[in-house]
Amino acid sequence: MADRNRVRCSCPRCTIRGLMGPAIIITIGLLLLLDQTRGGYLDFGNTWPVILLVIGAISLASALAPMTGHIVDTPAPPVPPVPPVPPMATPGTPAWQPPQNRQDQ
Ligand SMILES: [Zn+2]
Repeated sequence: MADRNRVRCSCPRCTIRGLMGPAIIITIGLLLLLDQTRGGYLDFGNTWPVILLVIGAISLASALAPMTGHIVDTPAPPVPPVPPVPPMATPGTPAWQPPQNRQDQ
């Protein structure tokens, strides 16, 4: 499950941080479900701060989690520029044969 994270790291901090999105979606779904089924006091207008609580709690948990085994996403090394090909090396156009190749006759 944790391998679906954008950051390919399985340390506790990155794992908890990867749960942020699904937790927010589940929280919003639950709050809307309560809003639709119960209503009244559990109206979404009353329960929406729970989303902030979930975000804050997960942020706090990820900040407190250790980073043991953290994999730093190193950027790819820069590709060296391809040197320009000299124009005389273009194959397929044998316009001129050197005469010294015929000395074996
Ligand atoms: Zn990590």
